[in-house]
Amino acid sequence: MSKEQLSFHDKLYALARNYWWCWQPEVVSIFQDLDRIRWRQLDHNPILLLDEFTPEQLENRGREAVLHSRVNYAYRRWVEYMNSKHTWGDTHAGVLGHNPVAYYSAEFGIHESLPNYSGGLGVLAGDHLKSASDLGIPLVACGLFYQEGYFSQQIDETGWQREVYPYVDNVRLAVKQACFPNGEKVIVQVDTRKGPIFAQAWQADVGRIKLFLLDCNIEQNSPEDRKLTARLYGGDQRIRIRQELLLGVGGTRLLTALGYEPSAIHMNEGHSAFAPLEYIRMRMVEDGLSFDEASRKVVWHCCFTTHTPVPAGHDRFDWNLYEEHLGPIADQLGLGAAGLVGLGRVDPNNQHESFCMTVLAFKCSRRANAVSNLHGVVSRRMWTDLWPWRSEEELPIGHITNGVHVSSWLAPQMRSLYDRHLPLEWYLKSGEPEVWAGFDDVTPGELWETHQSLKNRMINFARGRMQRRAERIGASAAEIAEIQTCLNPETLTIGFARRFAPYKRADLVLRDIEFLGQIIADSKRPVQFIFAGKSHPADDNGKAILQRIFRLTQEPGFKGHVVLLEDYDINLARHLVQGVDVWLNNPRRPLEASGTSGQKVVLNGGLNCSILDGWWAEAFDGQNGFTIGSGRSHVNQDVQDDRDAKALTSVLMDEVIPLFYERDEDDGLPNSWIARMKRSVRTLGWRFNADRMVMDYVQQAYIPAAGGVSCDMSRFG
Ligand SMILES: *Cc1c(COP(=O)(O)O)cnc(C)c1O
Repeated sequence: MSKEQLSFHDKLYALARNYWWCWQPEVVSIFQDLDRIRWRQLDHNPILLLDEFTPEQLENRGREAVLHSRVNYAYRRWVEYMNSKHTWGDTHAGVLGHNPVAYYSAEFGIHESLPNYSGGLGVLAGDHLKSASDLGIPLVACGLFYQEGYFSQQIDETGWQREVYPYVDNVRLAVKQACFPNGEKVIVQVDTRKGPIFAQAWQADVGRIKLFLLDCNIEQNSPEDRKLTARLYGGDQRIRIRQELLLGVGGTRLLTALGYEPSAIHMNEGHSAFAPLEYIRMRMVEDGLSFDEASRKVVWHCCFTTHTPVPAGHDRFDWNLYEEHLGPIADQLGLGAAGLVGLGRVDPNNQHESFCMTVLAFKCSRRANAVSNLHGVVSRRMWTDLWPWRSEEELPIGHITNGVHVSSWLAPQMRSLYDRHLPLEWYLKSGEPEVWAGFDDVTPGELWETHQSLKNRMINFARGRMQRRAERIGASAAEIAEIQTCLNPETLTIGFARRFAPYKRADLVLRDIEFLGQIIADSKRPVQFIFAGKSHPADDNGKAILQRIFRLTQEPGFKGHVVLLEDYDINLARHLVQGVDVWLNNPRRPLEASGTSGQKVVLNGGLNCSILDGWWAEAFDGQNGFTIGSGRSHVNQDVQDDRDAKALTSVLMDEVIPLFYERDEDDGLPNSWIARMKRSVRTLGWRFNADRMVMDYVQQAYIPAAGGVSCDMSRFG
């Protein structure tokens, strides 16, 4: 059957089965127009939505809503996209040829309907795949399939976080079973001292990129192991090392079984650091090499991205867990467990040092990178003992600053403004500065109106989420009615949403509660706050911070002006970053390796108000946002928190609030504020952008790893 003869129904399913749809506003709006209410109820999952219709009903609904030509057009664009030959990758990454980059990550945040992420690391990996697809980079990705996801967050009447684990039915997701060409299911096996673990795999198509997710829920496994991949970051250390063994060794066996011979191996964070061991084992078996010879060859191809300077963020395993799980492969590598353990220690001979995945990843890769300039400095300082013969500046740790995938985070309304002022097909070259210069021509009025309409949309959405919670906990009709008037669209609105890890200090602005009360109650220049974020299920400190904020939202004077939205996910993130006036980011410097949520805000015209940490330390130019403090740290945490809290009140008081409320006498617009919005988009949009990031990875990491010539080797050994 030729493509033209595909039915309306077939074309819709074809679109729904490739996550490409989720960064095409016009495809999203097709699904939305099929049935707005069910679209929302079904978590924006197009497969679930389409399954609600019989083919005849779908045909009728398509005619009723006049969707046929829109679907034909979208389908044609998708086919063109999939077959396009003139991509950036075709011209710049040809050396990778038919051997793709193998990209490993424990989480992938592609869309809210695929709950395979906990926060920034996952969303970054998802954005990486989307940009790699857009740019035409040969890349294949590997992760785990979490049937219960991370968790859904409910906040109870006392403000305490409750975790709910919805079951994800793979039959109703846009994934298909990974099979050999003859149609037989691929099953991989990894060995431990106490027996093998088996996994099947699901394939999700993300544009041109294939993402394979390993799933232990098969009958070959013991009942206990069938649950091994049920939850992301959900178990104890034993589950953790088993998941990581599966990701690194199992993932590599899966890619090999499917016929991939990667030209470069990219470990996104240390969770996948066992992968090089399996590649080394294969070289030894296939080429008859010794461990040393094989590892020299494999390490050449490996790149590692480290993501955190927070000590608890680095997985460490004690000897027993290590021996049980790495013993078999250590024997096959001819080293034995005692010989291999040194690869996971800074000092191989230190019996007291536990086995660390980050150390293994550094030792198994020729080049490594941090995720912002400042994080590069901090990481080199942190890991100098790994290379005692080199000075700090000479360590083989560079940096590639994170970026966000523009089409995924840019609001459709803002996108049409870009379409009017930026060059034709600007989104194909959004990583280039010249493309963004046209933003200067946007008139203040149109930018402000667009922003206001997005802000209204966000407030509506926030009220909806609050109402849903109120109904669940059985709130009174009066309380529910009250929600419908909370948050004023004319009021300066500050957003704070991210994982509630204590170092992010969600409650910093609560340190001076009197000041907070004053700026909220100010009759001429009021301020309001929207908070959201999940705490790790085992992190009671994070949950206590959440509860503190919740309690504030219930107090007279704050109620309706400070709100806390539950269940932070990609969908909620999208609404917030598209609608806020100001995005607050106040981590304890220098613990925020990069941060990316503020970059999503940039694209939509919001302004960042941030500590000089992570990406912001290299982004702020004095006029493209606001900075809290001067980038100092203090060995005493309390002193640092106090100093930053004071700096936060003064930047709000002296800069943010006055500038927002300064209106032009003629047109009533906050023109100085709008000038800052424009400067933010123009100076930051192209840099903190996943296309630019992936181009950097190609040139600085993948091409050298594949044996080609690098463009910038300055930071890599
Ligand atoms: C972007 C994003 C993050 C990352 O936010 P940070 O500012 O880096 O902490 C976390 N969670 C979700 C759902 C996101 O979309």
